[in-house]
Amino acid sequence: MFENLSDRLSGVFDKLTKQGALSEDDVKTALREVRVALLEADVSLPVARDFVKAVQEKATGQAVTKSITPGQQVVKIVHDELQHILTGDEDPGALKIDNPPAPILMVGLQGSGKTTTTAKLAKRLKDREGKRVLMASLDTNRPAAMEQLAILGGQIGVDTLPIVPGETPVQIAKRAKTQASLGGYDVYMLDTAGRLHIDQELIAQAAEVRDVANPRETLLVVDGLTGQDAVNVAQEFDDKIGVSGVVLTRMDGDGRGGAALSMRAITGKPIRFVGLGEKLDAIETFEPDRIAGRILG
Ligand code: GDP
Repeated sequence: MFENLSDRLSGVFDKLTKQGALSEDDVKTALREVRVALLEADVSLPVARDFVKAVQEKATGQAVTKSITPGQQVVKIVHDELQHILTGDEDPGALKIDNPPAPILMVGLQGSGKTTTTAKLAKRLKDREGKRVLMASLDTNRPAAMEQLAILGGQIGVDTLPIVPGETPVQIAKRAKTQASLGGYDVYMLDTAGRLHIDQELIAQAAEVRDVANPRETLLVVDGLTGQDAVNVAQEFDDKIGVSGVVLTRMDGDGRGGAALSMRAITGKPIRFVGLGEKLDAIETFEPDRIAGRILG
């Protein structure tokens, strides 16, 4: 459906310049295409505008070497700039889990993939780093969600906190902490309740748990297919609870990755992991290079 942006840019330039330096007009024409491509990839308008401006400043006046076409040159500048925006200073995959037992708080809307992601990360910590992980579901409204986590735990060989009916999320968080300390766990993951929409109760509950648990990481799980909505959700969670990073799920779907660019530019929060399927090992550290390629087409 989407015409490949790299081809589109090359086409524009083939008509314009064959050699010499990139003129302001050449760059402007090409960047109109870039802007359209960004919007098609579901990047928000202000972010697309700022991005195009940054590329324009970098590209104008750059000498075009003989080995590549002006189109290829602009594609490279666009690619580098995308990567620059998407990359934080820190390693996205390095979770802060020193000083055991380290609490990790998982937050997000119902259906975003939060429980699955909790299990995926637990498995990853166990398999790759040899960590002992304890998972606890705090979703007291939905017994099925608590059972789901226990089932996933069984599948991946990670312990879950036994379910005690009638406890509040804060009581469960406290019990998880005690259990993690006594049981010699390195990490305990708190899978908070999700709702279909952000509401007062959800935020109040997550904030209360955060204050009790004092998490080393608060990871927000959002559905990568929801585009701009994902960014709005992230902004609100960050304002009200404070998050240390974002996990974008369903990146195996046909979303074009624009949410990733807007996410970083608007919330300032790093994307730490991406979910790439329903299987419990379908999670990877966020790689800006891939998203840049996906946006560029
Ligand atoms: P929660 O309500 O946020 O806890 O969501 P769940 O973890 O129960 O996930 C909801 C559905 O999304 C399940 O069927 C998961 O298998 C699926 N899911 C989660 N992450 C991904 C992902 O990265 N890709 C795909 N394709 N499906 C996912």
